[in-house]
Amino acid sequence: MVRVGVLALQGAFREHLLMLGSLGVDSRKVTRSEHLSDLDAIILPGGESTAMVRVAAGTDLFCRLRESIAAGLPVFGTCAGLILLADRLSDDSLGGYERLGGLDITVARNAYGRQRESFTAALHIEGFARTFDGTFIRAPQILDISPTTEELARCEGRPVLVRQGNVWAGSFHPELGGDLRLHAAFLQHVGARSHSM
Ligand code: GLN
Repeated sequence: MVRVGVLALQGAFREHLLMLGSLGVDSRKVTRSEHLSDLDAIILPGGESTAMVRVAAGTDLFCRLRESIAAGLPVFGTCAGLILLADRLSDDSLGGYERLGGLDITVARNAYGRQRESFTAALHIEGFARTFDGTFIRAPQILDISPTTEELARCEGRPVLVRQGNVWAGSFHPELGGDLRLHAAFLQHVGARSHSM
């Protein structure tokens, strides 16, 4: 059985844990680097990236996590989680705080508007027979992606779900709305990888 960690510094980690539970997966909250041992994958939830980087500052959590991801640990960053993974931000609103990086994309924080401009879009996701309702809440916009980054879904002419090897990231909240398919697709990737090792 695979064990999936969910970064639980702030944000929508409980909803991801519930989804993993519904899929029958063993899951664990990750708040310290010790919690990274024996994980088969990790999810970085949405929330507020400024809060997450502040909580992690001064600890070795991001450093260890970056090493694990570079070594192949599958990771799925959603919304604020995508911001943590992006190699480039369009502004320096996270100041000098350490992020993770590892995903060769440029991201603009909050570019889909304010909280009250939140919306749900029916997304055509690569490999899905039916559309997936993606909820966008003060979501980051992906401005560009490298040639090695695959686009799995787009909205309003821009990528909103991407994958680069073991790194998956979406601008929206797949843990809201009760549709388990995207988590299941990520877990399928995790299972395929752990069986091939
Ligand atoms: N706007 C948030 C940030 O920049 C992300 C929003 C979200 O995760 N729903 O961190």
